[in-house]
Amino acid sequence: MPHELGDRVFRRSMTRRDFLWLMSVAGGGLLHGCATDPVTGKTVLVGMSEAQEIQLDRSNSPHQFSADYGAVQEAPVNDYLSGVGESLAANSHRPQMPYSFRAVNANHVNAYAFPGGSIGVTRGILVDLENEAELAGLLGHEVGHVSARHAAEQAGKTMIAQAAVMGGGIYAGSKDAGLGNLVTTLGSLGAGALLAHYSRDNERESDRLGLEYMTRAGYNPEGMVGLMDVLRSQRQSDPNALELMFATHPPSDERYRYAQQAVATRYIEDARLPLQRERFQDNMAALRELKPAIKKQQEGEQKMARKQYRQAEGYLREAVALAPDDYTGNMLLGKALLAQERTVEAERFFEKAKGIYPAEAQSHHFDGISKLSRGRYAAAFRAFDGYEKRLPGNPNTVFLKGIALESMQDRSGAAAQYYRYLRSVNQGQAAQHAYQRLQAWGYLQQR
Ligand SMILES: [Zn+2]
Repeated sequence: MPHELGDRVFRRSMTRRDFLWLMSVAGGGLLHGCATDPVTGKTVLVGMSEAQEIQLDRSNSPHQFSADYGAVQEAPVNDYLSGVGESLAANSHRPQMPYSFRAVNANHVNAYAFPGGSIGVTRGILVDLENEAELAGLLGHEVGHVSARHAAEQAGKTMIAQAAVMGGGIYAGSKDAGLGNLVTTLGSLGAGALLAHYSRDNERESDRLGLEYMTRAGYNPEGMVGLMDVLRSQRQSDPNALELMFATHPPSDERYRYAQQAVATRYIEDARLPLQRERFQDNMAALRELKPAIKKQQEGEQKMARKQYRQAEGYLREAVALAPDDYTGNMLLGKALLAQERTVEAERFFEKAKGIYPAEAQSHHFDGISKLSRGRYAAAFRAFDGYEKRLPGNPNTVFLKGIALESMQDRSGAAAQYYRYLRSVNQGQAAQHAYQRLQAWGYLQQR
């Protein structure tokens, strides 16, 4: 039974000191924490202190941003987004939090907030917005989640805090090292796993707070209505493309009607504030140029999700022809080829992606996988090492470094990596593999 094995691994690989450390961290905040909700002023039972929220954010958000292909490379777009975000944060209930705002290169429609204030908005949603007020509605909603401490509140009910304790927890759920899973591992996990737990009440409260912050910052609340309309119409035209957005932010006509009603009553005076359409369009020009390529990539990703890799490849080749130097486009085409086990071709696109966006880690991971599957073990190890230097804390990379070293007959090197892996993941096929090797090589005592 894999589960029993997992338990055994857990007991054997964890020293008493590790265990005590874990209990001290977990026991301090997991169940006993009380904090004041800065929005309502009432004391709530939460799973995390503010320091833990920031720690959870710092250890997890970089992985999500990389899974979303990194911040867009068009610096003015990020500067503009940050400017709008900061104006909302300054008008929020927790202006002291270390907020940061970035547009990320993912094509699906999503926005998310980590509990310390790291907020990401995909280019997939940005190219469908019309004006700055809609953007302010979107960012205001996310700032609302941070201000109302929704992640911390949910941590009292779920095991999110456990993920923080274990480190890199958003990846710990991926248990299988099969090729198909490796292709999707970095692309689809993250916000879904970590942030999908907001309740409907949380969403309502964030909509309400978003309206409050955006009007205080001088934006027309009609932007929130416009945002809800964009989400509704996208759902009608393409229900599949929005899965993740709906997992993290359940859409509903109710939310649209709430925004509409709030504008007609409480915020009626503010409906004269500007929408800032022109300023938004000017600042998004660089992204809007990519819109045709982004749409092709969205079609390719839908085919990928249905495991129709040939068709996906077709769309993604069109996307790369439209925007040859787009990091995400090259990565996706590489993944479609890798999924067809055309590793030599795949490697070419991952290497190209590395050149396009040297600081971003994900291309190194997939370059390593293509090299590993071609039997180029030393080169694969270097690629995984390149990934880990850019983005430490992903147990999958550690495991794959072990595989590369094992394939090179470097037992002591592989054992060190497997041991590191088992310190953060103790269930699943990869953990079994690591454990069995350590045992077979005499690194674990037989009972
Ligand atoms: Zn939300």
